[in-house]
Amino acid sequence: HDGKAKRTLTPRAPLSADESLIISSFDANSIDDWSYYYTHGLHLAGTNRSQAQWTADRWSEAGFNTRLDTYNVFLDYPINKSMVMTYGNGSVYRPSLEEDVLPEDPTTGYPNRTPTFHGYSASGAASGKLVYVGLGQQDDFQRLIDLGVPLEGNIAIARYGGPFRGLKVKNSQAHGMLGCIIFTDPDDDGNITVANGYAAYPDGPARNPTSVQRGSVQFLSTYPGDPTTPGYPSIDNPVRADRSSVVPQIPSIPLSYQDAQPILQAMDGFGTPGKQVGRENWVGALNASYSTGPSDATIDMSNYMRDTYTDLWNAIGVINGTNADETIVIGNHRDAWIVGGAADPNSGTAIIVELGKVMGRLMQNGWQPKRNIVLCSWDGEEYGLVGSTEWVEQYIPWLTGTAMTYLNIDVGASGPHPSISATPELHQVAVEQMHKVMWESLRGNRTMYDVWLEDTEGEVGVLGSGSDYTAFLHKGMASMDMGSDGDVDAGDPIYHYHSNYDSYHWMANFGDPGFLTHKNMGQYLGLVAYHLISEEFVPLHPLNYATQMDLYYQDLRDVIGNASQDVDTSELRDAIDTFRSQAEQAQALVQQAMSSGDADLTKVVNDKYRDFQRGFTSQGGLPNREFYQHVVFAPGLDTGYAPVTFPGITESVEAGNFTLAEDWVGRTSRAIRVAGNILKT
Ligand code: GLU
Ligand code: CA
Ligand code: ZN
Ligand code: ZN
Repeated sequence: HDGKAKRTLTPRAPLSADESLIISSFDANSIDDWSYYYTHGLHLAGTNRSQAQWTADRWSEAGFNTRLDTYNVFLDYPINKSMVMTYGNGSVYRPSLEEDVLPEDPTTGYPNRTPTFHGYSASGAASGKLVYVGLGQQDDFQRLIDLGVPLEGNIAIARYGGPFRGLKVKNSQAHGMLGCIIFTDPDDDGNITVANGYAAYPDGPARNPTSVQRGSVQFLSTYPGDPTTPGYPSIDNPVRADRSSVVPQIPSIPLSYQDAQPILQAMDGFGTPGKQVGRENWVGALNASYSTGPSDATIDMSNYMRDTYTDLWNAIGVINGTNADETIVIGNHRDAWIVGGAADPNSGTAIIVELGKVMGRLMQNGWQPKRNIVLCSWDGEEYGLVGSTEWVEQYIPWLTGTAMTYLNIDVGASGPHPSISATPELHQVAVEQMHKVMWESLRGNRTMYDVWLEDTEGEVGVLGSGSDYTAFLHKGMASMDMGSDGDVDAGDPIYHYHSNYDSYHWMANFGDPGFLTHKNMGQYLGLVAYHLISEEFVPLHPLNYATQMDLYYQDLRDVIGNASQDVDTSELRDAIDTFRSQAEQAQALVQQAMSSGDADLTKVVNDKYRDFQRGFTSQGGLPNREFYQHVVFAPGLDTGYAPVTFPGITESVEAGNFTLAEDWVGRTSRAIRVAGNILKT
């Protein structure tokens, strides 16, 4: 990038014998084999037990004790759908609603491929005029109301991007709209578009114009997991709760940009032109004015789903450590919307299968894991983090007693730019290990650290939601998510998220030729896991929680500064300061235990480091969302993916509810004090 200072390269950090074995044991060819296996059979949630068993078998071969954990959950599968637009003059347009079959990419033509659809979408038909709702956030709808655009009884057409797609449908429904269409806009592809002369997949790096983003439309911000078992596991014929507060009641259908173009064009000249709406990301890159409508054209759409209770299978592999009450959990989902899913999730799946193999090799070489290792291959992530959430709900007593960290890998490789997000006590170990991996796919003489530093300015992300760490985080467990993505501004090939073109063919030719990013991400995950499992003192750094909370506190003060009323946050300030001194006490205890070599003291420290995070949870959960218990982080109510910090306070201030905000200053401060009291000596 222009303007970025030239950095000096850092040398690779020296490796121990075990670390060298980890680095040399990850094999791109074998990862390629695993990827090939997973990407050539349909593995929609609840449809493919054999891939679960196959995963468990690979881990058994490596020396893990394996099993399949089964849950009976609510899912829906597509039956049929239709859409026709009738122009004011009576002529009609029928979008194809399908992705092209490409002879070059065999799995796009598999007879068992899934149609384009939204998971958990409602069955039904809807007819009405069109209103364009932008990204479909609450503020977009408010803007339409201010402009006098009638919403009730009309059909929403929203652009993908920004908030979790389920919230677009939720907001449409809340405003009395009858159906929701969500399309991919080529604006999201930066410069790498057909319009700019790049060839479309399979001939080149641009988006195939027929590619469709499938995906769940459940209302993620209420609670994840099986919509019929909030807070408890879907085992032993569970009582089934009413699911209508978490899944839509109106039908929705996803569209490609090729299918969407005529629909947006039919809205030109109706309502307020997009440029005058004044909302960010409102106008996209299609040849249309992105006018609000309502159109004179009408849409007739229908969507029919088969509602069912069906089994899901999490493959689990366990190695018992010498410390029975200390556990590191490592997980990745296995289900995909499509036959392929080469990036999402099978780049992560291929890596975690290889990780099992590498750990087996370490053990053959004499390594004795200090802590229990649990490898998890989740089912049902795509519908709403279902397999991982049900598993946490089932094993929560054991996890509360023993879990020290959850490491998540989902899209391990969809491009060459690594990124990580984690709770604060994991930042140090996460960054340290980057110095030991050479990043081969890009600028091959650099460490992963150098590449990551240039891309992110050294920022470890904050966890929101959107993958399987969510249930762990909200039960107060240290959590980390890692992956590697393309950068459209840097000219990387477009990744066809949740489309048939997220295939083995795409991955091998565009996404990660030679599977080098897969290999390097595997080495990285292997090193982070190895250190968490093996070090005498679990390498968590609670003091960084204080440092990060100082930053979140500043952000909160900024939010309050922009509000119509002040909120007294001195209690929170004090709680963070107290936490800092208590974390310092714990750190001093580590020094003492190290120099004395006292085994009992070592155990005391490791117990404190395992347990303090539980303090950050609030039993009743955040306002109106009992599931989300962490008082420092939550998925934003109006974003679903992007995080909000000190959510109880921040979101109450944003909603103008200052009484609730004050209440949450108290609740948040008390939780931080509980965490600090576990650390203090
Ligand atoms: N990764 C899935 C998605 O973004 C998660 C779905 C969910 O959290 O409900 O679609
Ligand atoms: Ca449940
Ligand atoms: Zn995924
Ligand atoms: Zn996904």
